[in-house]
Amino acid sequence: MTMNIFFIIGGIFWITISFLYAYFEGSMRKPGFWGCLAIMITFTPFFGYFIIESFSQKKAKGCKWCGNKYNEAMYCGLCGKNAEGVERDGFADR
Ligand SMILES: [Zn+2]
Repeated sequence: MTMNIFFIIGGIFWITISFLYAYFEGSMRKPGFWGCLAIMITFTPFFGYFIIESFSQKKAKGCKWCGNKYNEAMYCGLCGKNAEGVERDGFADR
C-alpha cells in the first residue's frame, strides 16, 4: 500500500505549501490569508499561485516621483506620473 504513503506525504506537502504561501503572500494581497489559503487548497498550489499573483497587491506601491506613498493606481493621484515617470494624458490640463 505505498499509494497511501504517497497521498499522505503529498497531502502534507500540499497543506504546508498552501499555508506558507498564504502566510507570506496573503498578508500583502487582496484575498488575505484565509482567501489565499482557500484558493491554494481548492486549485492546488500550482494554479493557486497564478490566481493569487493575478490579484493586485493590497499595499499601496507609492510614487517615487513626488513621495506620495498612498498611491495605488498606475498613475499617481498627486503628480500624475506612472512608474516610468510618464505623465498621464491630460493631467496638466485639469
Ligand atoms: Zn506622484
